[in-house]
Amino acid sequence: MVYRALTIAGSDSGGGAGIQADLKTFQELGAYGMSVITALTAQNTQGVHGVYPQTVEAVEAQLEAVLSDIGVDAVKTGMLFSAEIIEAVAGKLQDYQVNNIVVDPVMVAKGGQSLLQEEAIEALRTALIPLATVITPNIPEAEVLIGEKGIRSLPDMEEAARKIHELGVQYVILKGGHLQNEEATDVLYDGESFTYLPAKRVATKHTHGTGCTFAAAIAAELAKGQSVPEAAKVAKAFITCAIEHALEVGQGIGPTHHGA
Ligand code: PLP
Repeated sequence: MVYRALTIAGSDSGGGAGIQADLKTFQELGAYGMSVITALTAQNTQGVHGVYPQTVEAVEAQLEAVLSDIGVDAVKTGMLFSAEIIEAVAGKLQDYQVNNIVVDPVMVAKGGQSLLQEEAIEALRTALIPLATVITPNIPEAEVLIGEKGIRSLPDMEEAARKIHELGVQYVILKGGHLQNEEATDVLYDGESFTYLPAKRVATKHTHGTGCTFAAAIAAELAKGQSVPEAAKVAKAFITCAIEHALEVGQGIGPTHHGA
């Protein structure tokens, strides 16, 4: 059996985040990985030094090539950069009636560089999120999506998850890593009830690519036929282990270890 997983995201030349993190994660979890590159970044452990978006034509051509021939069992989207790219991606996913869509609403790199244009946020809300099976915002991303600041507790996270769910996505996984708690607890909401995904907080600065890796792990598990709650549990264990074994490469924030 071949489980086909596609990442639609940005390339991280440093190998820790984006397309590279996603493909390594797919491989580790037993899925066949494919990629549609939306932007190149010149990047290392010290930050993003340049962003080079691809044309809409190039993004559409990659999608068409993959979807018309190989097909997909699950898709993960990461850095999409512009409203035009988001609309092109949403259009092709609809044309090919793709199921199992994991949207990681990537906005800003840990170093502060923007990976999504301000005016693209509305396209994310209206064109892509309603197609998604699951969305995996962290707290700052959730605050942008709901247009309110101030998520500081698990009850605040539940409230925000409810609001994000109203955008038309089936499941919301709001990641709690930015809370200053001892545990890094994520909140999974299916429109009716909440499930907590707890994990002990790992003391490390090497967390580059955590969000990408987590969302890619969910996509790999969905490709293998798991439900979203099952996929989320596996992905949480995978990312916790990857952070525990993060690599000290480069001089800045090292990457999580996908093969841990
Ligand atoms: N670069 C690319 C291409 C990404 O897709 C992402 C993911 O969110 C990042 C960088 C961000 O990485 P970091 O985990 O360091 O914020």
